[in-house]
Amino acid sequence: MSDFLSGLGGLIKGMQPLMGEEIQKDASMNALLLHNDVTELKNKKRDVLAQIGQAVYETYQKNGGFSEYTALFEEADALEKQLNAKQTEMDAAKKAADEKEQQEERERMARTCPNCGNENEPSVKFCSECGTKLGEAQPSHCTQCGAELKPGVKFCGGCGARI
Ligand SMILES: [Zn+2]
Ligand SMILES: [Zn+2]
Repeated sequence: MSDFLSGLGGLIKGMQPLMGEEIQKDASMNALLLHNDVTELKNKKRDVLAQIGQAVYETYQKNGGFSEYTALFEEADALEKQLNAKQTEMDAAKKAADEKEQQEERERMARTCPNCGNENEPSVKFCSECGTKLGEAQPSHCTQCGAELKPGVKFCGGCGARI
């Protein structure tokens, strides 16, 4: 960003024919660049302080001590607990969403005619286009080994059993 801005600063300087205006532009450009530098240094400093905090927290978790920071450690502990709980909740929600999607895909496959490809209405037994008998919805897990089955597979990836 600052490379880009200093390049831009040079470009603007080259394009400014009037002395007074050029000085004015230079001053505001300079202020902008300095503002950038200050922000960058502030961010770097915050990163380093965060690393120090992390190191102290980890030392405290192992060995205790630093009693002057007890309140902050307790806050960090509480946040870690919340974070773990949310993470677990999120993983479960993702898994449930995946399973629902796969179940829907299985049901769609089951009502799609193997002969003509027509996607039939749910719960019909014969294809409404060609009369071919439609199969049952594929099971979600192998009956032989219990491995999870992706919709539409013909053989179990876990044991090779025909689905
Ligand atoms: Zn059909
Ligand atoms: Zn299997």
